[in-house]
Order: sequence, then C-alpha cells, then structure tokens
Amino acid sequence: MDLASRPVSDRGRDDVVLPFVVEPLETRGRVVRMGSAVDQILARHGYPAPVARLLGEAAVLTVLLGSSLKFEGGFQLLTRTDGVVDMLVVDFDAPDRVRAFARFDAAALQAALAENRSSPAQLLGTGHLALTIDPGNDMSRYQGVVPLEGQGLEDAAHQYFRQSEQIPTLVRLAVAESVTAEGTHWRAGGLIVQFLPHSTDRLRMADLHPGDAPEGAEIAAGVEDDAWSEARALAGTVEDHELVDPTLSSERLLYRLFHERGVKVFEAQSVRDACRCSRERISDMLRGFTPQERHDMVGDDGRIGVTCEFCSTHRDFDPADFEPS
Ligand SMILES: [Zn+2]
Repeated sequence: MDLASRPVSDRGRDDVVLPFVVEPLETRGRVVRMGSAVDQILARHGYPAPVARLLGEAAVLTVLLGSSLKFEGGFQLLTRTDGVVDMLVVDFDAPDRVRAFARFDAAALQAALAENRSSPAQLLGTGHLALTIDPGNDMSRYQGVVPLEGQGLEDAAHQYFRQSEQIPTLVRLAVAESVTAEGTHWRAGGLIVQFLPHSTDRLRMADLHPGDAPEGAEIAAGVEDDAWSEARALAGTVEDHELVDPTLSSERLLYRLFHERGVKVFEAQSVRDACRCSRERISDMLRGFTPQERHDMVGDDGRIGVTCEFCSTHRDFDPADFEPS
C-alpha cells in the first residue's frame, strides 16, 4: 500500500515488523518496533540496565534479520567475547517467536560502570558474532561469522552484509527505557535498508564506497550508485528516539524518511516473546547423556532439575524415567 495515498495513523503499534520498498531507489527494508516483547524478555532476567540495553540491541537485530527468512526454520545470533558480557544468544523462530539471554560478570560490570565504560559496544569487548540460519526440514545450516573488535552490533551487521551477503545495507538499532506512572519499561526499535537493484552490475558498483578503495587508487566520479547513496542518506537521518517513540507509528516514521521518493509498505508481521523449550525437548536432551552423567545431575531432592536459560522455566525429572526398566 502506498503511504502517500492514504491517511497514516499516528499511533504506534508495538511488536511488529513492517516491510517496505522504495521503488525509485530499488531499496527495500524493514522496521521493527518492540514494546512488551522486549520488555518481558529483559524484565524476566532482571538484567542491570547496561546489559539490558545491549541484549535489547541484539534482540532487535535478530528480529530484523530473522524476519526476512521465508521458511519455517530459525535464525540465531550468538556472540562470544572477552567483555563484561561474554555471551549473548538470541533465537528467532519463524514466523514470530523471539527469545534471548545474556551472560555477564557482575563484578566486572561494577568496575566498568565506575570507569564509565558501559556502552553496549564496550560491554561486548572483542571476539566474534555468529549469525546462523537454520532452514529446518533437514536442510543444511548456513553460518556467517564477523569479528567483534569494539565496533558494536550495528557495525558488525554492516560487515556481515558486506562480507557474507554482498548486499549494500544500512542497519540502525535503538533501545530505551521509558519511565511511566506504571513503572519502567524497555522499548527497542530498528531499521534495515538494503539496495537490491534489478541489475547486478549496479550492485557491484554500490558496494564500493570511496572510503573502501585501496590507497592511491583513483576513484571515478559517481562510482557509488546514486540511488543507493540517496537511500542511505535518507535512512541515515533516522534518530534513536524516533525508533523507540511509542507515539510514532512505523508507517509515519517511514513516511518521514522516504516521502520524497514514495514508500510502499507490506503487511506487518507480529513478533512475540516466546521460548521454544518444552518438557519433551529437555527430556530428549537428558536422554543423550550417559547414565553416570545423569546420576551426577541428581539434586538433594533426588530429582534432576533443569532451568531454561532463556525463559527461566524450571522443570524437574525423575532420574528413574531415563534408565532401562
Ligand atoms: Zn525456555
């Protein structure tokens, strides 16, 4: 539907992904706005605010990327780093489920806060980001790995698209705490914009930014595709507060950014906080251990207790159920 041709609501809708296209610029993208879905994930774990902010960014990035997949599989973002937050895991299960957790060192976090080193990128430190596409149905998985060297998740995503997908891409992520009369709630938002021209020659040209050229190389005038330059400049004007503003609808936001060129939106997809764990899955996992390993897991109450790291659901099992009768 063409945004210029109908009245646009001002009211924001939360927990949705809105795909769009700017046809004159051969550019496509998605906007993600998360309210209770991200708030529930972060509140459940009770993370300190700087950790919550970083995991919120990871959740938005995962939804931005995972929601583009056209199959019933899953998409996973995983970081392993030497920072205060040494591991982030976010799973997106098509079509709409997201779950996430972060592992961090509480004492190191206090030290980082005291030294004013607690931005999301600083908490990550160095290591790598792995993005895994699992199409399901026994089809093979695809994994892209990007080094994390202090650049943060937004820039790591740019690197991923440059290296693995070779699609000119702009990603923006924002997370904020909103304080209302009812308490504090997390909100998160993101935008991805990609240049997908019909001609692949243009794609190759657009991929070469003047800044990327080898030293001494002569850059011909206009080497970057004009359409992509314009799309990137328009999308780049988006502000963090716009991405998390509950009173600004995704449609209105896109209209602000691209109205000069005309922007069309497609049907919004919903996204929700939901784990994929189940009693059966955990039971299957326990069956994979040796009897001795299972024996070592039995607690004082004579049961094997398992707490899901993502949703904190606790389940306990009778060890006798796993042994041959
Ligand atoms: Zn769970």
